[in-house]
Amino acid sequence: MASIIHPVNPSEPRPGRFGVYGGRYVPETLVAALDELEHAYEEAKADATFQAELAGLLKDYAGRPTPLTFCKRLTEQLGGAKIYLKREDLLHTGAHKINNALGQGLLAKRMGKKRVIAETGAGQHGVATATVCALLGLECVVYMGDVDMERQELNVLRMRLLGAEVRGVSSGSKTLKDAISEAMRDWVTNVRTTYYLLGSALGAHPYPTMVRDFQRVIGKELKQQILEKEDRLPTAIVACVGGGSNAIGAFYEFIADRQVRLIGVEAGGRGTALGEHAARFQGGAPGVLQGTYSYVLQDEDGQIALTHSVSAGLDYASIGPEHAALHDSGRAEYVSCDDATALDAVVKLARTEGILPALESAHAVAEAIRLAPTWAPSDILVVNLSGRGDKDMGILARELKL
Ligand SMILES: *Cc1c(COP(=O)(O)O)cnc(C)c1O
Repeated sequence: MASIIHPVNPSEPRPGRFGVYGGRYVPETLVAALDELEHAYEEAKADATFQAELAGLLKDYAGRPTPLTFCKRLTEQLGGAKIYLKREDLLHTGAHKINNALGQGLLAKRMGKKRVIAETGAGQHGVATATVCALLGLECVVYMGDVDMERQELNVLRMRLLGAEVRGVSSGSKTLKDAISEAMRDWVTNVRTTYYLLGSALGAHPYPTMVRDFQRVIGKELKQQILEKEDRLPTAIVACVGGGSNAIGAFYEFIADRQVRLIGVEAGGRGTALGEHAARFQGGAPGVLQGTYSYVLQDEDGQIALTHSVSAGLDYASIGPEHAALHDSGRAEYVSCDDATALDAVVKLARTEGILPALESAHAVAEAIRLAPTWAPSDILVVNLSGRGDKDMGILARELKL
């Protein structure tokens, strides 16, 4: 899918637009479905029963609230800012993705849809979706590129055990973007019976807004917890950015608190050449990919570039549109961290704190490790630890020669 430039007038904000970004770039057959979804979501959002049911599942099923852990030894070793971790790694299925999957799963049920489809890259979102479908008694089909199915066999087996059908995708690069295209095709065909459960703050409106709302709980808890522990707001919040859902969930509650720096970390991969990384704000340009207008890694003809990262969850050519707006306004800062530095951060956190971070989350940990020594002991850095590292043990064993 080639990207095209579609600027809109930023002085005329519309729902689903973040500055000039976001919007809805989809085949006409999906417009009615997105309208139906938008209205159902607005109703659910305002419905106390829906919110109470979701809060109940987040607490008693997923394990919220997640702790805010002070890293005593890491802080002492680095000798600067205090480092805290928001522990999304402790949630059921091992990452923040369950927050969104539970919210959208309940919405699918409320809309009377009996069949749920999803796309997955590394398989984490597929596992979260399959989990929620089992819990709520929904049929589940997950699209996954053939290459990813081979790389992430354990997650394929987990999904099957949970009762989901995993459909391999053999077109294009046989990875995430091809799986998304295939899921979109399924949705166009089966739109009346089927709910498309999207995994990040990406895609056509209302997905970026809805997914952000389901992940906002991270920042809400974080704010309350840091005020309890430190009686002040943090100096900065650091989060890794794939599609952008864990980062926007951690940032959103603090956007109006201008003194809090919001730092997103993209995958710097193994080099700065196009194809070697997934740092959309370093090498990307505005364009349309998979329903939304945002920064996209593309060549001069607007063809989507290949991406690389040691962490499968950060390896995507586009970024959520709200991040594009936060980037351009300067409210959030975006940096990148390369594969080797992320791997070092895994080892460091494992050996100082006894916590194995997901490779995605390790990118944020690495940035905190870089910043902390240059800051004062009165500064506070909170890292959103989006997931745990168990899923990455195969890669870690190979890369670190364990
Ligand atoms: C999927 C994933 C990510 C990247 O997705 P975002 O939408 O950017 O949060 C980050 N961390 C973990 C652990 C993941 O599983």
